[in-house]
Amino acid sequence: MREWVLAEQTHHFLRQQRWEVAVLPFGATEPHNLHMPYGTDNLQVEQLGQRACEQAYRGGAKVLLLPTVPFGVNTNHLKIPGGLALSVTPTTLLALLSDLVESLEREGVHKLVLLNGHGGNELKPLMRQLHHRTRLFLCLCDWYKMATDVYPDIFKQPGEHADEVETSLGLAFFPELVHPELADDGAAQPTRFDAINRGWVSITRPWHLVSKNTGLGDPSAATADKGRRLMEVLVERLAGFLAALSAAKVDEGFPY
Ligand SMILES: [Zn+2]
Repeated sequence: MREWVLAEQTHHFLRQQRWEVAVLPFGATEPHNLHMPYGTDNLQVEQLGQRACEQAYRGGAKVLLLPTVPFGVNTNHLKIPGGLALSVTPTTLLALLSDLVESLEREGVHKLVLLNGHGGNELKPLMRQLHHRTRLFLCLCDWYKMATDVYPDIFKQPGEHADEVETSLGLAFFPELVHPELADDGAAQPTRFDAINRGWVSITRPWHLVSKNTGLGDPSAATADKGRRLMEVLVERLAGFLAALSAAKVDEGFPY
């Protein structure tokens, strides 16, 4: 029995528990080059959430994994021919998060970790919007930013979307849904502005222009072993934080 997974629990069990930390995963439903499933972001963030919550829970943390929000901000994917990205706007995510925060607060949960697996979901401004309106401690983990220091040890050429990193995770954790032989090289198209290409100025990139088949980054060097090595680091780091967060008492100066 996975006591730390809300969707698998009964009311009989749940009502006898007190939870310190809830983890809310955010994903997306969108194309990933030609070789990965539309649910890639959800599958990845769930794998990480389940493993990290399990490790923390088994160590004594009162941590509960909530169901994944399967729709993300993909407003820049809507012109991809046949793309079928199911997009919500940032304000829709804000409305959803506001309601869930209120629900959790009423249930006496004091700490909420937003575990994000999709680059288009910029959740930090949402936290700012709610900061002075809730007593819940909100924090954000974009998993793809969490272990970039170890990427040079594991990956040949990390990219951004359906790349070597994501494809390796897919080969490790949902291989039956990944078809590497269909992938293209994930080459990115530069804009006409040097300042944008160098990152001095940023835009919301129209995905049908920046990429041939929605991938960004060459997935050809991906292996299941690389995916497992990355997951090990991610789980270790996130589980450690969840354990510490669960044990911490919320007082006036929290989290300082
Ligand atoms: Zn992805």
